[in-house]
Amino acid sequence: MRKTFLLFLTLFIFISSNPAYAGSFKKSTVVMGTDLEMNLVAEDETAVNAAFDKVVAEMNRIENVMSEWREGTKVSEINRNAGIKPVEVTEELFNLISASIQVSELTEGAFDISWASMRGVWSFAKGSERLPTAEEIKERLPLVNYKNIELDNEKKTVYLKTKGMAIGLGAIAKGYAVDKAAQILFNSGVRNFVIKAGGDMRVQGAQENGKPWPIGIRHPRDREKFIAKLHLTNISISTSGDYERFFIRDGVLYHHIMDPKTGYPARGSQSVTIIAHDTMTSDAFSTAIFVLGPEKGLKLISKLKGIEAVIVDDTGKISGSSGVDIRTK
Ligand code: ADP
Ligand code: MG
Repeated sequence: MRKTFLLFLTLFIFISSNPAYAGSFKKSTVVMGTDLEMNLVAEDETAVNAAFDKVVAEMNRIENVMSEWREGTKVSEINRNAGIKPVEVTEELFNLISASIQVSELTEGAFDISWASMRGVWSFAKGSERLPTAEEIKERLPLVNYKNIELDNEKKTVYLKTKGMAIGLGAIAKGYAVDKAAQILFNSGVRNFVIKAGGDMRVQGAQENGKPWPIGIRHPRDREKFIAKLHLTNISISTSGDYERFFIRDGVLYHHIMDPKTGYPARGSQSVTIIAHDTMTSDAFSTAIFVLGPEKGLKLISKLKGIEAVIVDDTGKISGSSGVDIRTK
């Protein structure tokens, strides 16, 4: 991953000294259940359209492997075989699950793809929202434990040790897909772009005028406002917010980012933005740091190289990691 980043950086310097763009293009569609938006600077529209079609095909391919909702995906096969038998997977899926477990280890389980064992008791789908009873949570919570995901490196198998256990890659697969999409654009010769899938974004190269891409971090309580504007290039940005998927019951906001320790939505943050070298990392860590909360989250970020964070806490206070300069006007 680091190597890729350095390569991008070198090429960016080269490209910015040779501006030969014919125009800016915007493309958008829906993939992986979310809005995909791209701004591209390229020489001609035909190249852009061809690259865009490849990106959409690739993201659909990834969803067909990784979705825990769709029947017939590898992830649903792993879940169906929980407590029964290990399931052989592709190297790609094996690596993504390994990466997820590494994030769990770094965050003492704040990030845990086996959160999906709580699925069914919680629902955030519009029209069928569901708040579980305390008993239901107590019953399911022991199933949430990344340590019960057994990986066999040799055989490339994944085994969920407990019956009823399930994994879900909703906090990391989209970031991974954005990285793959960025790679496709880059290899197609489109080297100046912003690609955004929901809260996960990759910025590469420069705008048509040669300047870095302006990126806004949305205010978690006012969709029209931004809490910060950044000018970035060759980097990934992900935001996790409590306003993305939620319902309100008796005045309490319940959202889709779960604290694996309690079985309830994580408290302490309204939104977490992560800037990292790749989108898989920024995606996973935006969720992980959200769960950890501002204090523990910033402490962890300060120990990790190449990752920065902007956190809005539950009172609306904004704080940033050491590489982020927060100034109020
Ligand atoms: P979005 O889907 O809006 O981009 P995130 O990247 O923050 O948001 O991911 C949230 C999703 O991650 C949830 O909808 C759920 O699928 C999954 N998830 C929730 N809690 C956790 C957790 N503690 N660890 C790992 N994945 C989680
Ligand atoms: Mg995420």
